[in-house]
Amino acid sequence: MAFTGPVAPTPFRLFPALLACTLALLIGGCAAQQQSADGSPTPARTSVPTGGSPGAGPTSTRATTTSTSSATAPAQVDCRKKKCVALTFDDGPGPLTEGLLDTLVKENVPATFFLVGNMIKQHPGVARRIASTPGMTIADHTVSHPMLTKLGAAAVKREIVGNTRLIRNVTGVSPRFLRPPYGLHHARVDDVARRQGQAVVLWSAAALDWQYDKPAKIVSVTMPQLAPGAIVLAHDIHPWTVKAVPTLITKIRAKGYTLVSLDDILGGHPKAGLTYARGEH
Ligand SMILES: [Zn+2]
Repeated sequence: MAFTGPVAPTPFRLFPALLACTLALLIGGCAAQQQSADGSPTPARTSVPTGGSPGAGPTSTRATTTSTSSATAPAQVDCRKKKCVALTFDDGPGPLTEGLLDTLVKENVPATFFLVGNMIKQHPGVARRIASTPGMTIADHTVSHPMLTKLGAAAVKREIVGNTRLIRNVTGVSPRFLRPPYGLHHARVDDVARRQGQAVVLWSAAALDWQYDKPAKIVSVTMPQLAPGAIVLAHDIHPWTVKAVPTLITKIRAKGYTLVSLDDILGGHPKAGLTYARGEH
């Protein structure tokens, strides 16, 4: 039952790089390029500042002291002793994110937000609110949401380092997790992540909220994928996802799971540059 370090779900272990990328693409993670029904802007490709960021050490992204809300941070959980599930939301911050935050705070549920730089530029105040909400973790989802495996070395660096700097400048926190768009990554991506002090985090349960647009369907698709250590991929740019979350929380808890942060589900010490798709217990 002990946490066993950097892990990937069983199929990912067999042919780590190639299969991980293929599977991620097949299940269609992070379909942020689609226009969402509420008209949320699609992350667009723009130029970003170049250059490295040697000072990006593994600083905690947990916000516990600057909250403007009255909420308290969810307690740390030992996932060797409890059945844990972690919620993650990609492609924001957007106009719907604050409503989701209200739900998470009300339910005392931690979550991780993988932010896209071009969305941060449009909604910097929302990014700051995530950062100042206890229990919420801010993470890196690149500047413009490209397929990193199709880019050259300089562009990969711009996407990851540029967003790391943007997140730090806007929110004051240094992201320690990178989710490559579509789950696509390779050694070059992992190396840049490592230099930024970021672990590469994929997922083991997909809400498929780029495919389905009904809250009840999001819940019914997600629940059977859960297992102890599950990392759930959803998107806070979709209204049906935000509407599904209260029911999802209730049903996940009814199954005996504890909702935890990425730090908790990864055993508290994820390593920069290594890939994780779930906690293992
Ligand atoms: Zn995405």
